[in-house]
Amino acid sequence: MPKKVTEDLNLNTIVSYQFEEAARFLKEPRGLLDQIKECNNVLLVNFPVKFGNRYTYFRGWLAEHSHHRKPLKGGIRFSELVTQDEITALAGLMTYKCAIVDVPFGGSKGGVCLNPRSFSEQELERITRRYTAELIRKNAIGPGVNVPAPDMGTSEREMAWVFDTYDAFHPGGIDNAACVTGKPVSQGGIARRREATGRGVAYGLKQVFEHPEDIKALGLNHALAGTRISIQGFGNVGYHCARILQEEHDCRIVSVAEWDGTVFSSEGLDIAKLKRHRDRSGSIRNFPGATTLDDPKAALTIDCDVLIPAALENQITLDNARQIKARIVAEAANGPTTPQAEAILTEKGVLVIPDIFLNAGGVTVSYFEWGKNLAHMRFGRMQYRLDELRGRSLVGYLEKELGTKMPEHARRILIHGANEADLVRSGLEQTMANAYEQIRDVFKRHRKVKQMRTAAYLVAIKKIALSYRKLGIFP
Ligand code: NAD
Repeated sequence: MPKKVTEDLNLNTIVSYQFEEAARFLKEPRGLLDQIKECNNVLLVNFPVKFGNRYTYFRGWLAEHSHHRKPLKGGIRFSELVTQDEITALAGLMTYKCAIVDVPFGGSKGGVCLNPRSFSEQELERITRRYTAELIRKNAIGPGVNVPAPDMGTSEREMAWVFDTYDAFHPGGIDNAACVTGKPVSQGGIARRREATGRGVAYGLKQVFEHPEDIKALGLNHALAGTRISIQGFGNVGYHCARILQEEHDCRIVSVAEWDGTVFSSEGLDIAKLKRHRDRSGSIRNFPGATTLDDPKAALTIDCDVLIPAALENQITLDNARQIKARIVAEAANGPTTPQAEAILTEKGVLVIPDIFLNAGGVTVSYFEWGKNLAHMRFGRMQYRLDELRGRSLVGYLEKELGTKMPEHARRILIHGANEADLVRSGLEQTMANAYEQIRDVFKRHRKVKQMRTAAYLVAIKKIALSYRKLGIFP
């Protein structure tokens, strides 16, 4: 029997391999490359929480990958699969991600090893508050130090608890709200943060389709509208990404997978109805009009044009890479594709849009939120009325000159002043478009660079190297 080829699924090893793939194209000194690549500190945060009469012991981490820019930034993950290696690797991805989208932060990541589904809301609150208190005790959180955000297993609810705990320990701190992002809008959050990562994925994909020659080379030959999409993960990122691609870009979502199965319909799934079905029944399974498959990995190999893994690491591996039918793999999750699987996909001519670019929408809007908290003012507040007045006088002038009334939709666009949600969307789309063009430029120019991921790392490493040089640390 032929020996089964195995692959290393350690995310830290994978990220390190991806970094080196890019580093070999650079003439930077090895010491500088090591300084960029290695994680600066990893804090082990073990703590007990008392529930009733019993104590439960939790193991958590905070990895601080790079201090070349401050504060550091990265999500807090609650998952029973969390390990120190994973958190360290994810912190590294944050550093590269921030550099790619020009967010002036270093990379970090927090995590606590627990299954959120096994705890009540009250218990999760106590765990979150205790973890935050441990970070405060070690000066590992604060507006100018380290600013967490939501990640897998956490949401704006947990971020509100993080903020409140920090605020209680720093009475009177005028900038306290900037200690964490992804908060509810009522707690100093920003409009559209919840959907930001999913929206960023949609904008990134839209930018890929802005180059018809690239799309044609993949054998796709059509616009983003009508594209058949399969999505793994229907959480924060997966749901919003699916919703926005369907509602705003007319994509056909043919399949969605969750931990307990996959639903499929070649006609397309109605994402709003699927969400309501899941909220009501607790599962995407048995969605009326769709086929339910038991295998949660079925969505990966289903017939589609674009595959969006939006759940976990190491989902596209040696085991299933050859069965993938999509022409584009759009990495919404962190680390969903192993290097060996990516090599197979590259050989098959599949474009893998890398995580360090594609899911950077969350950190981009988190950066906007941090800025808003430090400015103590909602974006758009100062210029909203002025925009509207200008729009109205322009419309009045045009209608007078043309002697006819403008169509209602054109009037509305011209008159509407930009509010916070408009500004966030505009800033996010521009950021994703700029970043994609930088990466595509490197990808097209370097004939020897075979994967878009390598091009993305090249963009990131060059920017970070420049930053270290300007600090005077390296010649
Ligand atoms: P989430 O917890 O909201 O959603 C993850 C979803 O995946 C959940 O609904 C979960 O049930 C599902 N899932 C778990 N195991 C699965 C399996 N085997 N098959 C299919 N689905 C499964 O988390 P999220 O915030 O949406 O994060 C998803 C991914 O995106 C992670 O890799 C995360 O690091 C990355 N990411 C998130 C953000 C953010 O702003 N939330 C930003 C950047 C990257």
